[in-house]
Amino acid sequence: MQLLEERILMDGNVIGEGVLKVDSFLNHQMDMTLFQEMGKEWKRLFTDRPINKILTIEASGIGIACVAAQYFDVPVVFAKKAQSINIEGDVYSTKIESFTHKRTYDVIVSKKFIGPEDHVLIIDDFLANGCALEGLIEIVEQSGATIEGIGIAIEKGFQRGGKIIRDKGIRLESLAIIDSMENGKVTFRK
Ligand code: 5GP
Repeated sequence: MQLLEERILMDGNVIGEGVLKVDSFLNHQMDMTLFQEMGKEWKRLFTDRPINKILTIEASGIGIACVAAQYFDVPVVFAKKAQSINIEGDVYSTKIESFTHKRTYDVIVSKKFIGPEDHVLIIDDFLANGCALEGLIEIVEQSGATIEGIGIAIEKGFQRGGKIIRDKGIRLESLAIIDSMENGKVTFRK
């Protein structure tokens, strides 16, 4: 998506260890006009799918998922990062290793909000090694719902996550795919 790629080139910053900082428009300060265009694009890409729910993970997936949900006219459920001690019986749960924080979280979703009748679109801000998405997929599988697809804002194509997810046969639509960030210069897959 050209608008997102241009914004990454203009305002993104590559910091050490393959991390792209986009906190001036995506995951700290958030540009709603850009989010609306992203939401419209996911709606266009997944228009043939019977999506009735969007699933994301706190914190930085929530903003983009909420704006996208307005175009799908469906509710958003976000997976919560929980203390293991608080995990009770009425939740689906899994563990996710955080790429940016280098630690493992327990993640939960209440059984009240996803079940076998649901057709879920998963949305998140970044795809790196795929741990966050594998956790969300695991939660949907526990619920018996159908995964209709995954929408990612920025996929780092030089990390393994995209291949892992596509190899599962899940439809993955990343709005910008970065091929390389060497020497601080971002290049995109065309
Ligand atoms: P994965 O689980 O695919 O390895 O990483 C995905 C998660 O890590 C995303 O939810 C995102 O929050 C975070 N993340 C991964 N790479 C980056 C990055 O380059 N920049 C930022 N800001 N977050 C990232």
